[in-house]
Amino acid sequence: MNTINPSIEPSLAGQQSPLTSVSRADVHTAAVPAYKYGILQNFINGQFTPASHTRSIPVISPIDGTPLAEMPCSAAADLDKAVTAARAAFPAWSRTPIKERVQVFFRYKYLLERDLKELAALVAEENGKTLGEAVAEVEKCIELTEFATSLPQLVTGELLEVSKGVECRTEHVPLGVVASIVPFNFPAMVPNWTLPNALALGNCMIMKPSEKVPLSLTRLAALLKEAGLPDGVFNIVNGDSEIVEAICDHPGIEAVSFVGSTKVAKLVYQLATQKLKRCLALGGAKNHLLVLPDAKPDMTAQNVAASMSGCAGQRCMAASAMVAVGQIDSIIDKICEEARKIVPGNNLGAVINKESKERIERFITEAEQQGAKILVDGRGAVVPGKENGTYVGPTVIDFVKPGMSVATEEIFGPVISIMRVDTLDEALAIENASPYGNAASVFTQNGGAARYVIDRASAGMIGVNVGVPVPREPFSFGGWNESKFGVGDITGKSSIEFWTKLKKSTVKWNPEAGVNWMS
Ligand code: NAD
Repeated sequence: MNTINPSIEPSLAGQQSPLTSVSRADVHTAAVPAYKYGILQNFINGQFTPASHTRSIPVISPIDGTPLAEMPCSAAADLDKAVTAARAAFPAWSRTPIKERVQVFFRYKYLLERDLKELAALVAEENGKTLGEAVAEVEKCIELTEFATSLPQLVTGELLEVSKGVECRTEHVPLGVVASIVPFNFPAMVPNWTLPNALALGNCMIMKPSEKVPLSLTRLAALLKEAGLPDGVFNIVNGDSEIVEAICDHPGIEAVSFVGSTKVAKLVYQLATQKLKRCLALGGAKNHLLVLPDAKPDMTAQNVAASMSGCAGQRCMAASAMVAVGQIDSIIDKICEEARKIVPGNNLGAVINKESKERIERFITEAEQQGAKILVDGRGAVVPGKENGTYVGPTVIDFVKPGMSVATEEIFGPVISIMRVDTLDEALAIENASPYGNAASVFTQNGGAARYVIDRASAGMIGVNVGVPVPREPFSFGGWNESKFGVGDITGKSSIEFWTKLKKSTVKWNPEAGVNWMS
């Protein structure tokens, strides 16, 4: 039997691992299908280690339904082991100078570049996105790591002689053992939002991947080990909600970062802060594109279609609602033209699973029943030869009313809901009414109108003539409102504040120093 243990083999596919230590009978009493990659293991103290739970979850490729792996869920005892390993590693790792710590990430960046194709293939296989999108995801991992290697330049601290012979100094020190809980939609990129920065800043980490896509992270752990990361500094504990609750509860974990749906982000934020942990929890989104009559038609149509359908619409930055201001029928026609060029199984990937496909199609049907007009219909998409894949075609819905579920709820599929209004203020009122606040974009050639939207949109990330306004490093990523709970952002310079605490020292160096009111 093969098992996921990529520290041994550079390629996962079809490899026989010499380190298999869990038999299928240990985790399943029923017969198990032939999993391509066998049984998944945790990564604790630098070793691939079996999880001890009796429950397990199958990992299925959304592309064609191939059973990829069996993921035994971890129990609280597995988390304890990971926290113990991380706490043991923390003193030496945190005392290693940051300029030495980042050498690991220079090597990790090189390894990501070396294995880009192989890693991208695995991301695509378990998530369902196209290979091109998966390559872009790994390239983003490289950019995120590049930022982490620049941290020594950014955490230099401050020092000032505040009185004759007396200095005040601040320095960023790591928190200790921290946790990162990640979603299914970017199996490699979202883990790299947190792990390079948190570790380069001197923390040790427990990461819990999504049970839907746990394979890519295992490969990343192997690369970190190959890059020379000391054992125990980075650990993976597989599981589902049970292990998330255990992480929030664990007294050995100082901080929790979470990325996922708003419902779970709220829960994690409440559980972790109740236990007095620092927490940053990123939630779901409903991003609005405001299209004005002076928008460049071709560029706007291409951006709207790409933004709604990239990664099959499973992006927290995807365009999900479009507010058409005034008479822009010709732009809407072009959007439909562009959408029809997007073909499931070709330049459009699969959605994560059958439940997701059914949920997305239900949204479309409900909008139709409520009187909206389906201009391009992606329901019932089947890719020849991949009949067990879970595809939804690009879908453009027009004449949507602001109260409809397709206007207010996160669909997380390749669907755009168009609402029509007469003025920019009406468009902004619709955007402002959303409880979410990840991103909003405006398409216009008028600089004044663009600034008007930047000032008034209630979202953390704004685009002007940009469909997916993701800030690039060193700028930080993070939404507002119900798209994020906690202070600061998860990437870029802002992440330094989350992953460190400030130590302030006041030092009188010699007896000649003056005596002031604080002495
Ligand atoms: P999810 O909330 O279902 O799962 C995220 C993580 O939480 C997973 O590791 C999962 O195991 C765990 N989890 C799920 N249900 C839980 C529960 N009841 N209790 C405790 N833990 C639980 O999200 P998902 O479906 O994996 O990812 C899609 C969602 O993530 C979308 O809403 C998307 O907008 C959001 N997302 C947001 C951002 C952002 O930056 N704001 C980025 C990526 C994804």
